[in-house]
Amino acid sequence: MRAIIMNSVGGVENLVEKEVEIPKISNEDVLLKVVGCGICYRDVLARKGFMRVRPPVIPGHEIVGRIVEVGDRVPQNFKKNDLVASLIYIYDPKDPKCVEGRENICRSRVSIGEERDGCYAEYISLPHWILVKIDDPGETPPEAYSFAACVIGTLVRALKTIGKAVRGESVLITGASGGIGIHAIQVAKAYGLKVIAATRSSEKAEKIKIFNPDHIIVYKDRFSEEVRKLTDGEGVDYVIESVGGPTLTESIRSLRWGGKILLIGNVDPSPYQMMLGHLILRENSILGVMNSCKHELREAIDLLRKGFVKPVYKTISLDQDSVREAHQIIERGGSFGRIIIKP
Ligand SMILES: [Zn+2]
Repeated sequence: MRAIIMNSVGGVENLVEKEVEIPKISNEDVLLKVVGCGICYRDVLARKGFMRVRPPVIPGHEIVGRIVEVGDRVPQNFKKNDLVASLIYIYDPKDPKCVEGRENICRSRVSIGEERDGCYAEYISLPHWILVKIDDPGETPPEAYSFAACVIGTLVRALKTIGKAVRGESVLITGASGGIGIHAIQVAKAYGLKVIAATRSSEKAEKIKIFNPDHIIVYKDRFSEEVRKLTDGEGVDYVIESVGGPTLTESIRSLRWGGKILLIGNVDPSPYQMMLGHLILRENSILGVMNSCKHELREAIDLLRKGFVKPVYKTISLDQDSVREAHQIIERGGSFGRIIIKP
């Protein structure tokens, strides 16, 4: 099969197209023909050596595929030709601490596309317990389900599971025109939240209007003052923070007293300095959100199927030049929506 291998950490020249063997499956695995593989900012960080990555490895953790082979001990409900979406990691189903709802922080978690082969390939073998069946994709194209777990599922976990947001509350979305931000606007609107979208690009601000955020802020360096103006001086209940270090200080200043930062991404791995008193005096909190669990993946699939979330993406083919170029575009923040490899 064709695959892109990451030979070592470093620049995009380490992503190399190769002909490799189709993976073998064990008793508990299924073999998937990859229908779509999302390219994530995390892939860029992994390539640059910021994640626990073991090259040579096939990158890619955002997977939707069709089952072509089923192991002997895979439950009957998984059959050939089924469309399935995957979690982005493999957890240990026998570890009592990794119960459903917390499997995302299983200590023996293995990251797909980093510590073992991922989906920049025509086929991938995966254990059945990390998969969720998509019985009916509805009007959403099958390849779009590749980012159900990593993008939509994470937003479900952030707002619903961790934030416990309720209808009528307010949320600021940083990086609103990015691959996560555009979908964050839609998930937040689906939950009945008042959405303020912040972006640095006036051109992209025009494009996000169709997702109906209640307000759009186009900013250069600061946005907190404008957020306060839009919220009667109070600030927002939540910030979906997908940018991280570069916007976090302004995000904290945008919170109302008791408000929460839901930290789902960080583009800058260097240390971050902050005034801790700010958190204490206003009882603000910063909550890390580590991707999604199976129940959130199920809800993400539902949001896509019912059309509450319209996926924004473009597709590329599985070849070295396209994948290298996609990494470069994502690294400089130039993509409107997500990029999906369609092998
Ligand atoms: Zn991802």
